[in-house]
Amino acid sequence: MNIGTCTLVGAGPGDPELLTLKAVKAIEAATVLLVDDLVNTDVLQWARPDARVVHVGKRGGCKSTPQAFIEKLMIAAVREGEHVVRLKGGDPFIFGRGGEEVEHLREAGIVCAVVNGITAGLAAVSSLGVPLTHRDRAHGVLFLTGHAKPGEAGVDWVQVGATAHALHLTLVVYMGVSRIAQLQQGLLAGLPGHTPAAIVRDASGAQQQHWVTSLAGLADTAAHHGIASPAVIIVGDVLHGVHALANDRVHGVVRTASA
Ligand code: SAH
Repeated sequence: MNIGTCTLVGAGPGDPELLTLKAVKAIEAATVLLVDDLVNTDVLQWARPDARVVHVGKRGGCKSTPQAFIEKLMIAAVREGEHVVRLKGGDPFIFGRGGEEVEHLREAGIVCAVVNGITAGLAAVSSLGVPLTHRDRAHGVLFLTGHAKPGEAGVDWVQVGATAHALHLTLVVYMGVSRIAQLQQGLLAGLPGHTPAAIVRDASGAQQQHWVTSLAGLADTAAHHGIASPAVIIVGDVLHGVHALANDRVHGVVRTASA
């Protein structure tokens, strides 16, 4: 019997003020909240005091809860009549495995509602004061993952670089820092080394940092500053607009030599 409800909610990139009103309402109505790693727990201020909160992420020293177990938990809770909210960082349908969860719940006869959130890449670029698209600098944007499933090759960066160059696209890479040298090398086959690039860590969060460099300087910048997750990599001419930023907003900017 399916008497409860299930809602996948995007908690945005970090700043709780970036939650949508729908997200806040869903959190307020939840009796069970399953909270992912990258979610800023400040958003739980809207949860009912008696709501059951389950943290299913890796932080705090635990291994992340296996996906199948989370889905089982969600299904069981909904069947018990709970209002289940699955809180995910950013948007649940951008590299958040939200699609898999929705499908598995549907197979169990449970329809999940989805509330979009602001994805990290969008917040990261906006925080630099530049757009993702621009009439003169980028005709579109590609959101890509730098992570490959074990045994799979992952994204073909040579092809991505060539496509971005031919079509004037902004590239936004999630989970790319650990493979940044490989990514850079592939992209350089299609894009000039002087193409502006940036890394934004903890976008919109209290600890946000960013580094602006060139495609040729990406890997060195990441290594030199020991940049760790969560961070997104942005490559494209839209970043030329960063020059126009007022200095007081560009703390943490590092410029490395362009190739
Ligand atoms: N669904 C999420 C993405 C999950 S994948 C979203 O829409 O934002 C996890 C990756 O997202 C991280 O490895 C990192 O690349 C990126 N990420 C998530 N939150 C971030 C943040 N606040 N700042 C920078 N990158 C972030």
